[in-house]
Amino acid sequence: MNTLRSASLCLLTGLLVTATAAAAASAKPAVVIVATGGTIAGAAKSQTEAGYQAGAVAVDVLIDAVPQLKELADIRGVQVASIGSQDMNDEVWIKLANTLNELVSTKKVDGVVVTHGTDTMEETAYFLHLVVDTDKPVVLTGSMRPSTAMSADGPLNIYNAVALAADPRARGRGVLVAVNDDIHSAHDLTKTHTTDVETFTSHEPGLVGASLFGKQHFYRSPAEVHTSKSDFAGKIAGPLPRVDVIYAHAGMSPDLVDAAVAAGAKGLVIAGVGDGNMTTPALDAVKRAISAGVVVVRSSRVGSGIIRRDVEINDDAVGTVASMTLNPSKARVLLKLALTKTHDAKKIQAYFDGY
Ligand code: GLU
Repeated sequence: MNTLRSASLCLLTGLLVTATAAAAASAKPAVVIVATGGTIAGAAKSQTEAGYQAGAVAVDVLIDAVPQLKELADIRGVQVASIGSQDMNDEVWIKLANTLNELVSTKKVDGVVVTHGTDTMEETAYFLHLVVDTDKPVVLTGSMRPSTAMSADGPLNIYNAVALAADPRARGRGVLVAVNDDIHSAHDLTKTHTTDVETFTSHEPGLVGASLFGKQHFYRSPAEVHTSKSDFAGKIAGPLPRVDVIYAHAGMSPDLVDAAVAAGAKGLVIAGVGDGNMTTPALDAVKRAISAGVVVVRSSRVGSGIIRRDVEINDDAVGTVASMTLNPSKARVLLKLALTKTHDAKKIQAYFDGY
């Protein structure tokens, strides 16, 4: 090769290497926004109207409403449902989980944001925390005010959620929820106010992190088993077994426990008083349910604290499972999944101890 040709070849190779490096440096993470509906996609008749229709706004409209998202990531939208989250059910959960599992399995996706109503956000987030087989960031977000409202909270929530899903430091922390500048673990958050924008709390375990206009600060990683390490991770065929939650109160009768068993429940969660307690007649009905092969978990209606085994109710003798840190709605999610693996109360207790 003469000197001139070899010099040109070196120059060309140098240019190609520089161009590739520049492209790599400017390549943005790829984030998919999977929409399910909720108030974040809600529309009202005016900016000050309290009544609205949840889920009326399509995902592409949501994305176009926050053009700054495209500075954070390469964005595309997928619509899985258009419902108020009060209508969330097993079928949509399975469709959503299988969509997410497919998305995260490709190298083209770095993170996923799920938009969702806030009413059942904690249940869907925890379900996905148990079944999505990935270490990539999966972030739920929503809003308390419809997209058409004065001071709508959705745009900044979705901006922070995309920034979090695009952040490699969010990997391996399980499913997260980004709302109101806070980052919660799916395991811990719960809705605590009917209408305030500051509705979600992670009580004793606390926040995973905080967001400020797309900049994340992390405090901790959830300690429980989740996502790629979960026994439930991967494609779900369904249907899932029926599990009912029954709310305990002074004077609780045994009737609803008996009725749930008669209606075909395979599992029950008692939202017990205090430390997962209930009246003696209700506990007798629980014993009948267990004899009929139904798995019964004791949780609590109080909203925080741990329900441990054998404190006031002797779980060893009765055969009940203690929900540990899970509130009734999340205990229901874990029990549904656990019942797809086993009906042995001891093995199910081990899930509640570790998940
Ligand atoms: N019912 C609505 C839902 O959960 C309530 C609020 C919201 O989305 O934030 O879809």
